[in-house]
Amino acid sequence: MIIDEIRNGIVIDHIRAGGAMELYRILGLEELSCSVAIIKNAASDKMGKKDIIKIDEVIDLDLDVLGYVDPGITVNIIREGERVQKFKPDLPERVTNVIQCKNPRCITTTEQELDHVFRLTDRENRVYRCLYCDSPAKRK
Ligand SMILES: [Zn+2]
Repeated sequence: MIIDEIRNGIVIDHIRAGGAMELYRILGLEELSCSVAIIKNAASDKMGKKDIIKIDEVIDLDLDVLGYVDPGITVNIIREGERVQKFKPDLPERVTNVIQCKNPRCITTTEQELDHVFRLTDRENRVYRCLYCDSPAKRK
């Protein structure tokens, strides 16, 4: 599959196969007016199959969210047709308003205006817990 090369933009590479749509939604990419390409099931030497997202504009990405959703991804920043930056997002210490606390007695259930904040409590096992009630986050 050949897609127009990006002159200025962001390429999110090495997304685990099937993960691009979740990232698209969480990053709010549907609200962008520039073109966004999602490539599903691209061949990858390392991963077998992978997804890629190409954004035709350099936007502010929420790197904490990227690291939480998929720490294996690579972010490439393209300017004037050249890759000027390449990095892997870290597993963030905190994620805000990405995970909803499922505990019905949690304060975030009754206080609607509170941010849903989860903190990393176990880096090795990627465990996040609610800042308010300590409930573990459930991953889909
Ligand atoms: Zn909670």
